[in-house]
Amino acid sequence: MFVKRLFALACVCAALGAVAQQSAQPAQPLTAMPYSPSLDLTNMDKSVDPCVDFYKYACGGWIKNNPIPADQASWSVYAKLATENQQFLWGILEEDAKMTNRTPVQQKVGDYFESCMNTAAIDAAGDKPILPGLAKIDALKTRAQVIAALSSLHHEYGGAFFFGAGTGQDSVDSSLMIVELGSGGLGLPDRDYYLKTDAKSVRLREQYVAYIEQLLQLTGESAEQAKADATATLKIETALATASLTRVQRRDPHATYHMMTVAELQKLAPSINWEMFFKVQGAPGVAKLNVSQPEFVKAVESELTTEDVAALRGYLRFHLVTAAAGSLAHPFEQANFDFFSKTLRGVPAMPPRWKTCTRAVDRSLGEALGQEFVARTFTAETKARTRLMTEQIETAMQHEIENLDWMSPETKTEALRKLHAIRNKIGYPDKWRDYSTLEVKRDDYAGNTMRSFRFAQARQWNKLGKPVDLNEWGMTPPTVNAYFNPQMNDINFPAGVLQPPLYDPKLDDAPNYGQTGATIGHELTHAFDDEGRQFDAKGNLRDWWTPTDAKSFEERINCVRDQYAGYTIVDDIHIQSKLTIGEDVADLGGTLLAYIAWKKETAGQTLTSVDGFTPDQRFWVGMAQWACENDRPENLRVSAMTNPHSPGFARINGVVSNIPQFQQAFGCKAGQPMVHTPTCKVW
Ligand SMILES: [Zn+2]
Repeated sequence: MFVKRLFALACVCAALGAVAQQSAQPAQPLTAMPYSPSLDLTNMDKSVDPCVDFYKYACGGWIKNNPIPADQASWSVYAKLATENQQFLWGILEEDAKMTNRTPVQQKVGDYFESCMNTAAIDAAGDKPILPGLAKIDALKTRAQVIAALSSLHHEYGGAFFFGAGTGQDSVDSSLMIVELGSGGLGLPDRDYYLKTDAKSVRLREQYVAYIEQLLQLTGESAEQAKADATATLKIETALATASLTRVQRRDPHATYHMMTVAELQKLAPSINWEMFFKVQGAPGVAKLNVSQPEFVKAVESELTTEDVAALRGYLRFHLVTAAAGSLAHPFEQANFDFFSKTLRGVPAMPPRWKTCTRAVDRSLGEALGQEFVARTFTAETKARTRLMTEQIETAMQHEIENLDWMSPETKTEALRKLHAIRNKIGYPDKWRDYSTLEVKRDDYAGNTMRSFRFAQARQWNKLGKPVDLNEWGMTPPTVNAYFNPQMNDINFPAGVLQPPLYDPKLDDAPNYGQTGATIGHELTHAFDDEGRQFDAKGNLRDWWTPTDAKSFEERINCVRDQYAGYTIVDDIHIQSKLTIGEDVADLGGTLLAYIAWKKETAGQTLTSVDGFTPDQRFWVGMAQWACENDRPENLRVSAMTNPHSPGFARINGVVSNIPQFQQAFGCKAGQPMVHTPTCKVW
C-alpha cells in the first residue's frame, strides 16, 4: 500500500516481518509478559576480545542460543519481544472474542480476530470476495474505460495500481495537509529488482512471473492467458521501475517535492481525468498537489497509452488479487507466502494462524487493540521514568550543540530552537482513534479487511483542509520500534518498545540508559541527520544552515559513510551507506547522548562493579544487547537493497569504534578493530 509520507519514518529498527516462536510445544497465549533482563550475561561470548569484535562479545551467546524460527526471515531481540507482545495480545483477543457484555472496542477487536481464525469459512469462500473486482476489470473493453476505472480501483481496493496517491503534510508548510502523488505500481520490493542483471536477480524475476501465473490461474484463468498476463505485468512494472527514483535519491526531500496545480498534472498525464480521480477518492476540488516524481507520472502516462488494453487488464487483475491474497482461501495465501516469504526471504514455514490474525487486528484496529495492551502492560511509573530519561537526553543534546567547535552561533541558535520544539510522545496517544463507524463482522474476514482498508483511506483523504492532528501516531502501541517524524518534529516511543529486555524497571540505570537511552538518543539525532537537518523547528523544509556549517556537517557524515561502506552484509554485498547514513548517524549520536545523560544522572552515586563488570562496561554491554540478531542470507540480500538500517554487527561495532569512552572502558588500543581511525563524530 502507498506510504502516505514521501519518505519512510526514520525509525530505530527495520520493520519486523511475521514474528514467531519456535518450540517443541505448540505456543499458547500468554497471560503475562515474560521477563528477560536488559543485561544478560548468557547472551555474551566472553571468549571474544571486546576490542576486536564487541558485537560478538556482547551477543555471541544470544546468536548461538537463538536460531531463526522456521516462520521467520530473521530473528533478533526486537523480533523476539515483538513475538511475546503478540502472544500476549493473542490471549487478550481470544478473551475478547469469547466474552459477553463486551465494550464496543472489545467487540471490534474480538470479532475481527475470530473472523480471521475461522479458516473453514475463509476457505469455503474461495475467491468470492474479489469476484466483483475482477468482473469490473474484465468488463473494461476500451483503453478509455481502463484508464477511467483507475479512480474506483484506487478507492475501493488496496492494490498497487500504477501509482500511489494519498495525503501528507506539505514539506514547506507542515501546517497544511496536501494531496501527494507518488511512485508505486510494483509487486517486487524495490525498483532495482527489475533492473539488475546478475544471475540471482534474473532468476528472481522468473520466479516472480511464475507467481503471477499461479495466482491468476487460481482465479480461473487459463494457463495461456495467465502467462500472457504475467509477461505483460513484468513489462509494465519494469517500465515503471525504470522511471522511479532510487531509495537513495528519495532521501533528498527536495528531489520529491514538486508542487503543481491539477491543470499542470493534467498536462503531465493527460489521459487520466485527475479532477475526477481525486473526487472519487473523496477529495473534490483539489487545486494543488505535490507530484513527488514527475518523470514517473510521465512513464505511467506512456504505459497507459501504449500498452495493449488486454495487457493493462492483466496487470490490474494481478494487482487486485495479490493485494487480497493474504485474506483469501488457503491456496492464495500459500502462493503469496511461497513467493514473498519463502523464495524472496528464505522463510521455510508459514506462521501459525494466531500470529497472522493478531497482526491483522493490529494492522486494522491498532489503537483499539492498543488500549487493551497498554492497560495491562504499561505502568505510569515506566511512562514517567522514560519521559524523564527523554528530557535528560535532550538536555545532553543541548549541551553538545552549545559546545560544538564546528558550528557557528547563528546555526546553533536555530538548532537549539528546533531541539526545544521537539515533542516527546511516550507509550500511546493522548486520544484514541475512533473506529465506531467501521463495521466488523464476526463471520466475514475478507469483508473486514476491505472495510478496514476503505476506513483508513477515507480517514486519510478526510484530513485535507483540516489542521494537522499533532496527537496522531504512526505506530501502534504494541509495536517494538520507535520513530522521528521530521514534519511533525516529534519523537515517538510506543509502549511495546519500553519493556524488558529493552527497558527494564528491575535493573539499574547502566543497562537502561545503554539500551532505551540510546534508542531515545537515536530518534532525537534523526532530527539532525542528513535528512532531518533540512527541516526546521516547525517541521518545514527550510535551509537554516550557514554554507560553512553545512559543509562541516557533510564532511563529518562522510567519515561515517566511508566507514560503513567498508562493512560486508552478505556474499560480496557491502552496506549501501548512502542509504543507511541517516540511521548510522542516529546510532552514533544517540549512543553518545545516552552515555552523557547516564553519567549526569549517576554523578555523585557510588557505582560498583557487578559480576566482574565495571559500571561503564555494563552500560556498553547493555547498549549492544538490543542489536543481537540472526538473519537468513536471502533476507540479507533483500535488506541490502531496501533496508535503511545497517545490520546489527555494524550498528554496534560501527558506533563503539568511534567512542573513546567505550575504548577506555575495555582498554582498547589504537590499531585494534574497535578503535576506528579517524574517529567519526557528527553530534
Ligand atoms: Zn532510525
